[in-house]
Order: sequence, then C-alpha cells, then structure tokens
Amino acid sequence: MRIVASTSDLASLAQAVAGDLAQVETIVPPAADPEAFEPRPSDLARLKGASIVIRVGLGYDDWLNKLLMMHGDAAVNRGGAGYVDASVGIPLLEVKGSQLDPTARDGHAHGLANPHYWLDPANAKTITGAIAEAGIRVAPEMAEKLIANRDDFLSRLNASLARWEQLLAPHRAARLIAYHNTWPYFARRFRLDVVDVIEIKEGVAPSPARLAKLAAIMREQKIRLIVHEPFEPEEASQLLARRTGAAVVKLAPSVGSLPAANSYLALFNYNVATLAQALSAVSN
Ligand SMILES: [Zn+2]
Repeated sequence: MRIVASTSDLASLAQAVAGDLAQVETIVPPAADPEAFEPRPSDLARLKGASIVIRVGLGYDDWLNKLLMMHGDAAVNRGGAGYVDASVGIPLLEVKGSQLDPTARDGHAHGLANPHYWLDPANAKTITGAIAEAGIRVAPEMAEKLIANRDDFLSRLNASLARWEQLLAPHRAARLIAYHNTWPYFARRFRLDVVDVIEIKEGVAPSPARLAKLAAIMREQKIRLIVHEPFEPEEASQLLARRTGAAVVKLAPSVGSLPAANSYLALFNYNVATLAQALSAVSN
C-alpha cells in the first residue's frame, strides 16, 4: 500500500498508523512552506498508484485539487475510499463563517478557519482515526493491524501529552507574540496566550507602523518572547526583539522543519521543551 500525504505532519501520523504495511510519501518537502507551495509535474507522478491521499484541507493545500483532478483516479479523489481530508471532525478555531473578503484573512492566503490544527496533539486522535478508517476501506484484511498500530500510537501520545502539559504548566497564560498565525491550537492546548502576530498578510513584511504598534503592545503587556519559524524572514522578529528586550525562540511548525522535530511526537518534544526553557529564561 502506498500513502501520499500533502504535508510531513500527516505523513508522520500516517506512518504511525500504517507501520510496515505501507510506504508513506510527502508532497511538500519539509523545508518548504506548504502555504506557498507550487506543485511540480513530478508531484503528479507521486500520486500514481497511491491507495490513500491525505490532506490538511481548509485551503491550506488547495494546490492538491489540481493534481488530483489531473490524476483522475476517483478512489483518491474527494468522496473516494482512499481520500482523507484530515480536517473533518476537528474542532476548528478562527472559523471565518461566510466571510469571503480576501483582504481580511489574517495572515492566511485562504481561510475557512485556521488550518494549523495538527499543532494540538489531541487532534492527532481524530486524524489517525480517519487514516485508519481509510486504510480499512482500502485494505479490509489489514484492519486488525491498523487498529493495533493506532492504539499503540495513541497510548504513546497520551503519555507524552501528560508530560508536555506538565512541562508547560508553570507557564500557564504566558503571553507571546508569534511571527505567523501558526499557534492557536497549540496555545489553546497548553494554555498560552498568543497576543498578536507580526505577519498580518501572508508573505508580506510588516510596516514600520505595525512594528511600532507591536512594540507598544509588548512593553505594555510585558511580553518577553517572540515565537519564530525556521523558514520565515527573521528581520522583523529580530528588530522587535531588539526594540523591546524580548527574546526570539524558534519553534518547528511542522515535522522536519527543524532537525530535532523528525516525527510527530518529536515535534512536540522539541517545541514544548524549547518553549518551556525560553519562558523560564525570560521570566527570571
Ligand atoms: Zn498559516
């Protein structure tokens, strides 16, 4: 069985469910931004022969629509047995309702809701459930193994989640500024307060007026930490840090975006430990 996932996060979860029953591939390379991704002809070839296709949905990987249409296999297209939109069943945050104003999209070039839902580890239960169900639809004879793999992953996830919550418990309600609006699900799970984001329009550098306003908010609310991502331009975050005396901490928004975040569980191990350490350092 071959499984193709749009992102490394979904690929890591698919691997956990499929174990040695499937070969799992990712379309967006770990060092690229999925929200600005342009598929190449070779990505179409990757879909050939895939039994299951898994996507983030919510406009995050809309480029996949064209690939699936060109590919044409109904089994992995919307409604097919091997099609998984991992956002189905997730309690979404920042839902935009019927608002279709393209200028009011809060740092995202799309926007049914904030699409970074894999960053709440509790959502991995829903995501792995959908992957296991697709696996069972496509290969019913593997049902027992898929269910056992998922149960095994969930028990490791639950044990880890308790540890992560414990590590961040002393920093409950800590106020942060983020570069991109990546962290609402993560922040809600771990009771952190992302007060504002630097980037209000995807891929557009903040204006001097915007930076001045953020600096004022940071001073007023004593915000000492800026969360930055490895592939975002660093200038604005560094400038703001210098102006306010805050520190910049780099977290991994996806599996593989930093070397230590090489699996779904490792992503949270790294982000939680790094953030807890950075918050301790700035609160002293
Ligand atoms: Zn985003």
